[in-house]
Amino acid sequence: MFSEIRSKNCTYGCGVEIYWNTEENTYYELYSKKKHICPNIATYNKEPAIIPPTTAAAKPTYYNNKEFPNSNQATTTTTITRIKSKMDNSFEFLQTSPDIIKKQYEFLSDIIRDCNGKVHGSQSHISNNSIYLIVYYEVLEGQREEVKKKFDNFAKYKNEMACSRIH
Ligand SMILES: [Zn+2]
Repeated sequence: MFSEIRSKNCTYGCGVEIYWNTEENTYYELYSKKKHICPNIATYNKEPAIIPPTTAAAKPTYYNNKEFPNSNQATTTTTITRIKSKMDNSFEFLQTSPDIIKKQYEFLSDIIRDCNGKVHGSQSHISNNSIYLIVYYEVLEGQREEVKKKFDNFAKYKNEMACSRIH
């Protein structure tokens, strides 16, 4: 009658074979037949093995997290890696619907590329139906105003287009 049990290795990499116990609604260990309290996550989660996926959406998401955890560090990294030509650093703060943000991000990265710069990271924050995106970038010295001007024009235009289409 245990033929229906489908065991698997614990998701958290502790090496224990576990299976879902439908009566207790939690993971049990295949061999000990006890509730699996995973040592790998017990330290920071009182309810091991069950992590509701919905809470993740409320937290900020970081892209390129390793390289640029925050703007200060981004600036530092730039100073070290780009000593040949002088670069201007800045960021743009995008706040609109996901569809438009995508367009804005694509356009912004095109402008930056055309100004011999590069995007070095971005942070997004999602709350309810809004999305905020901060894009950190660097461009050749003197090009920063050019980027801002072009992007402002584009952002204004796109927002108007989107509004007139939706309403
Ligand atoms: Zn485990």
